Amino acid sequence: MKPFVWKEGMSAEETKNGAYWERNMLVLMYAALSNGIARKHHIGQVDEHGLPCGWYRHQPDPWPGWERVVSLEYGRFTFHVPDDFDLGNLLEIAPNWDGHKTAEKWVRAMSKVGIDVEPVIKDLMTGEFFGKQCPRCGASLLRNQLDDEWCSNVGGRSLSACTFGLKE
Ligand SMILES: [Zn+2]
Repeated sequence: MKPFVWKEGMSAEETKNGAYWERNMLVLMYAALSNGIARKHHIGQVDEHGLPCGWYRHQPDPWPGWERVVSLEYGRFTFHVPDDFDLGNLLEIAPNWDGHKTAEKWVRAMSKVGIDVEPVIKDLMTGEFFGKQCPRCGASLLRNQLDDEWCSNVGGRSLSACTFGLKE
């Protein structure tokens, strides 16, 4: 693999691919550093499966050409990488995506690095109508950017209030 170096005159496509290359390298570097710390911390009881980072194959493949996923911190942060990107000595692991949505991943990352996420979370949590009806009561459903869906007939003062989609 050759290192990517941006040059004057590169097309938007080449520049975009280059930015992805840099992103993939940084993810890989994070994985190596994090696994290195874990190995050091568990001296004498190294268990490859206990390492926080690895890669797995996504099946069924949702995006042809981006079949592999680099998983950081036990599946809390996952990144699809192009098939031709060399993952070096990163270990293959069993799929361990923890169910996060993309927005959640970045909110987690932001809070880890000290970025104020309050206004972001508020935006992400705000529901909008999207043309679907509640299967329980027929009112319009709301959906936010975290892909949570719930009934707009919520928090009612009457018996008609509906709890569809509300988390316990
Ligand atoms: Zn409802």
